[in-house]
Amino acid sequence: MSENKLLKKLFQAYYRENKSKIPIVDLLEHREFGFIPWDKQIMIRHMAFRNVESLSKYLSDNGSRHVYSSGTLYLEPDNLNMNNKQYQGCDLVIDIDVDHFETPCKTNHDYWYCVECGKSGKGMMKKCPKCGKLKLRNLTWICDICLDIAKRDIISLIYDFLFPDFGIDEKDLKIAFSGHRGYHLKVENKRMRGLSSEDRREIVDYITGNNISLEILGLKDLSLNLNFLRDNIGWPKKIILKIEEVLKNYSNDTIIRLFKSKQFGLSNDSIEFILNNKQDFLKILWNIDGFGPKKWENFLYGIIKEIGIRIDDPVSIDIHRLIRYPGTLHGKTGFKVQELSLKELDTFNPLDESNKNLDPIVFQSDIMQKIEILESEVPATKIKGQTYGPFSQGEIIEVPHHIAVFLLCRGVAKTA
Ligand SMILES: [Zn+2]
Ligand SMILES: [Zn+2]
Repeated sequence: MSENKLLKKLFQAYYRENKSKIPIVDLLEHREFGFIPWDKQIMIRHMAFRNVESLSKYLSDNGSRHVYSSGTLYLEPDNLNMNNKQYQGCDLVIDIDVDHFETPCKTNHDYWYCVECGKSGKGMMKKCPKCGKLKLRNLTWICDICLDIAKRDIISLIYDFLFPDFGIDEKDLKIAFSGHRGYHLKVENKRMRGLSSEDRREIVDYITGNNISLEILGLKDLSLNLNFLRDNIGWPKKIILKIEEVLKNYSNDTIIRLFKSKQFGLSNDSIEFILNNKQDFLKILWNIDGFGPKKWENFLYGIIKEIGIRIDDPVSIDIHRLIRYPGTLHGKTGFKVQELSLKELDTFNPLDESNKNLDPIVFQSDIMQKIEILESEVPATKIKGQTYGPFSQGEIIEVPHHIAVFLLCRGVAKTA
């Protein structure tokens, strides 16, 4: 049996056994559904379901590889013509996925290969450093460190932005582990549903800190002591508190590493100057002798980048996007897309979760399975506290069922 047929059968069996566990999304009957099957690389769109039971039946019948529903509400979600669907509004959707930003561990577990010139390397790469072409094949991997960073970001998004600055109510938040390398968040309330794409772009700019004007924030007047901003809500306060956090709590080594990063663009001399004059910087005085306006600006923009949340912008701006349906399986991992309350998020550990009801590793089993590695290099995978690999092409390995499912889903192995 081909691997895809096998995985389809596994997914069908999972959905049959967990019929009653597929969560209901608010106003389900008004959402458009999309599915990617196992036998074709296409998205079957413009589907709708009257209730969760009929969705559940569809999943048992088809065992779909990927399952999505819209953040958008329509009167006729299954109308094939976008213009005739009768748009009624769209949840605010925010996606945090380490695919889209740098993490320190990527040089351990992500690979790229240039289809054009054959150069290869480790880490995150968008453009071939040798030939400059964009035709890169990337092998990205899951890891605890990456997932922790994504989780920290989503928590900061909620507590530092959505609650204080947008007045969002906890009951309107829907949080989910994506089943792969990140988290999704939806805000389901009337006010958010009414926002245009333009409004959403402004929200994205606010959350990411992109296009922030120091002038508008009141940070351009060189004669001011900026301490007065401490009582301002929003970005000015975030900036002051972050400067304090960095200079008071971070070790000098960490500060140096941070300030040397691209986002600050500070010279070694400037960094030394800051370290020698921490007290002046903590007083947040603009006119520090020896640290001119240009350096201040770089410093502040670096701090802003440090505060901003690295979200996948188009997901929030596009009002017709489909996102993974909670409780369904992610076809690239075999993990469950897991809904989480804010409290559950706090202790949630996707790759080693102790609460059975929240565990995304639904195929966990001690039954061993033999598979053959197809990919030239497969990074180590740590799941449930056990590390498997790294593996290389041609290796025949015996691993627990859930690891076999994961490697088959990733397309780096076949049954042996
Ligand atoms: Zn190349
Ligand atoms: Zn990582």
